[in-house]
Amino acid sequence: MSSTADVLIIGSGIVGSAAAYYLAKKGKSVTVLEAADAVGNGGSSRNGGGVRQSGRDPRELPLVMWGIQNLWPALAQELDTNVEYVQKGNLRLGKTEAHLKTLQKLTDQAVACGLDVRMIDGDEVRAINPYLSQEVIGASWCPTDGHANPLTTTLGYYKKARALGARFITGEPVRSLQKRRGRICAAVTPSGIYEAEQILVAAGCETRELTLPLGVDVPMRKKKSECLVTEAEPPLFAQMLGTAEADFYGHQTAHGSFVFGGSTGLEPFGLTDEAFPASTSLSAPCTCRGIMKYFPALADAKIVRTWAGWTDASADGIPVLDEADGVPGLYLACGFSGHGFGIGPAAAYSLAERMTGGTPPVDLSPFRCTRFRAKI
Ligand SMILES: Cc1cc2nc3c(=O)[nH]c(=O)nc-3n(C[C@H](O)[C@H](O)[C@H](O)COP(=O)(O)OP(=O)(O)OC[C@H]3O[C@@H](n4cnc5c(N)ncnc54)[C@H](O)[C@@H]3O)c2cc1C
Repeated sequence: MSSTADVLIIGSGIVGSAAAYYLAKKGKSVTVLEAADAVGNGGSSRNGGGVRQSGRDPRELPLVMWGIQNLWPALAQELDTNVEYVQKGNLRLGKTEAHLKTLQKLTDQAVACGLDVRMIDGDEVRAINPYLSQEVIGASWCPTDGHANPLTTTLGYYKKARALGARFITGEPVRSLQKRRGRICAAVTPSGIYEAEQILVAAGCETRELTLPLGVDVPMRKKKSECLVTEAEPPLFAQMLGTAEADFYGHQTAHGSFVFGGSTGLEPFGLTDEAFPASTSLSAPCTCRGIMKYFPALADAKIVRTWAGWTDASADGIPVLDEADGVPGLYLACGFSGHGFGIGPAAAYSLAERMTGGTPPVDLSPFRCTRFRAKI
């Protein structure tokens, strides 16, 4: 079988699905190849839903700020889908002077990039969120941060892209990419060859093994992240929360459950086949102990499920959004390093602009793929 499209996208996470939508909207014929049996089966259906600017690497800030100002507020309307976007701010909490120092540094960096974020004391923190314990002595407060539902957002992009003619083929793992006369020309799967003028690889960590044979190497490694969800509780607060130490983050969803994620250091020590990202029995209790110190009110909340997902951690913690050097027509969107949901729509929009000869809304040079090369 040989099948052609203007653009082939590998991976149907939020980035691949959103890129399919924005490219189809510009009149491109698009085919999306997804290895799993369902769309969005990677990090995009497993993440904590944070749509935040605060605490980010300054190189990422212009792009994520643009997305939060220009895409997220109208996304539900644009996609005809309830993406459950709530823009009620992010409190990044501190309990010690060392925490406040960390938060102050992040805040200063973000303010220098034009973000509305400031340090507040414990009383102001509890005025915003009265459920926080007296142990919290301060926080950074970014009123324009928020959260959304990763499942419905990814599905919304998928449905809307399909409505514009994009074709999604699941259970179709790409094994290799092909060049013709130096340009990218096709992706090979067990069932055939898909030809296209342009190929966007948005396959998370697997991007590396697909592009490496073409001489394009993005240093990334697979890193496991875990989340948990509680039973539905009465509405308590609408902000996104995080901590200076990044030991937990989370929010209350539209139907009342709390979704929390956290880094415990135990994630790599699963018992099961690491091809499938299973949660450990130890991580959730560790995360919960942290949460209870900040939120005594949640001490009795019952956890109904835990899960894990892979993130594509790049060597310098920010993504690659670029045409591959030396392989015209091959584009990469990878290395989101555990925070690609909030920035995903803006990343996909920008690449769609670039791939169609338009001008991305912000400078994409911090995300070039050649940045890892040895400097001469
Ligand atoms: C537990 C957890 C919590 C997180 N919390 C947050 C958060 O709160 N906020 C935030 O911004 N980000 C968060 N993230 C990160 C975020 O989920 C990811 O950065 C984002 O979803 C990446 O989207 P993507 O489309 O690039 O990749 P993915 O969603 O991983 O999609 C890649 C797709 O490519 C497919 N694929 C792989 N190889 C092939 C192949 N050879 N052929 C065809 N298809 C292939 C995969 O099956 C997958 O569907 C979290 C991640 C995890 C795991």
